[in-house]
Amino acid sequence: MPRPMLEANAVYTCCRCRETLELAKNFYRTTSELYSDTGYMPVCKNCFTKIVDIYSMKYGSQREAMKRACMAFDIYYSDEIFDAVEDDEAFIGKYLKRMNMTQYRKKTFDNSLDEGINIAGVMYDKKARNLRDKILAAEKEDQKREAELDPADIKKWGAGFAKEDYAEMNRHYTMLKSANPRADGNQENYIMDCCRIKMHQLKASREGRLDDFQKMTDLYTKTYKAGNLKSVGDGAVAEDFTYGVTAETIEKYTPAEYYKNRELYRDFDDIGKYAERHIFRPLKNIIFGTRDKDPDYHVIEEEPVGGDEDE
Ligand SMILES: [Zn+2]
Repeated sequence: MPRPMLEANAVYTCCRCRETLELAKNFYRTTSELYSDTGYMPVCKNCFTKIVDIYSMKYGSQREAMKRACMAFDIYYSDEIFDAVEDDEAFIGKYLKRMNMTQYRKKTFDNSLDEGINIAGVMYDKKARNLRDKILAAEKEDQKREAELDPADIKKWGAGFAKEDYAEMNRHYTMLKSANPRADGNQENYIMDCCRIKMHQLKASREGRLDDFQKMTDLYTKTYKAGNLKSVGDGAVAEDFTYGVTAETIEKYTPAEYYKNRELYRDFDDIGKYAERHIFRPLKNIIFGTRDKDPDYHVIEEEPVGGDEDE
């Protein structure tokens, strides 16, 4: 990553002591990718010294302390440099000054790992580097994915979802809002919750997690009822939509086989009842000579009263 152009007197806030100090004077330079925003370490020189002191006490050795601090801040550690400065009281500053020499400038702790480094008896080598590279690559991938997201979606639904999750929630939101155009603030919260649950429900369905799917389905029903929400086709807004639209909406958002009240949507356009009444019944009468009447619409014939025949 190219080093940004910083003004000569740029200031920076140390991430350890929170003091805002002149960058060039109070922070050590670094070529580590981790700090490429400024090209300087995130802790001030004073704090870095304090950190090395803390490690010195822990490990009982300035050399091990320096190794560990280099590890923490992605600085190249080399015995060669340390041997040259260790007798100096200001060995930390001297060490990092040497790091600016051409042969070391581009090196980071990755190079120490490539060479293999033993810190207080623990060996760190390429294996650790591979793991670190994997973590860094995953972080970069996350950043890339985040960059593709619409900031408005993050503001509305919160961070941490994938692009398709936001799309799912937005779709469901549009549906619920059109069914509840006069939702108050309280209902709005329930609508938002329903959208989140719906997204998780669809995800569970896609991934074949049936238990989670059932849980989400129940939770959805509860939330939906608690919010006193209407789906397209219910109640006051029903006039704006035909029953077919409702069935279509349900197919789209809660496929009919998962819909709670299956019976309601089984024959949503009444084609079944129509066939029963006007096709199957007359056909049966013609073929079998029966006299089945339409169950609702028929003339009630008076039954002959019993005993008449005897008289
Ligand atoms: Zn500091």
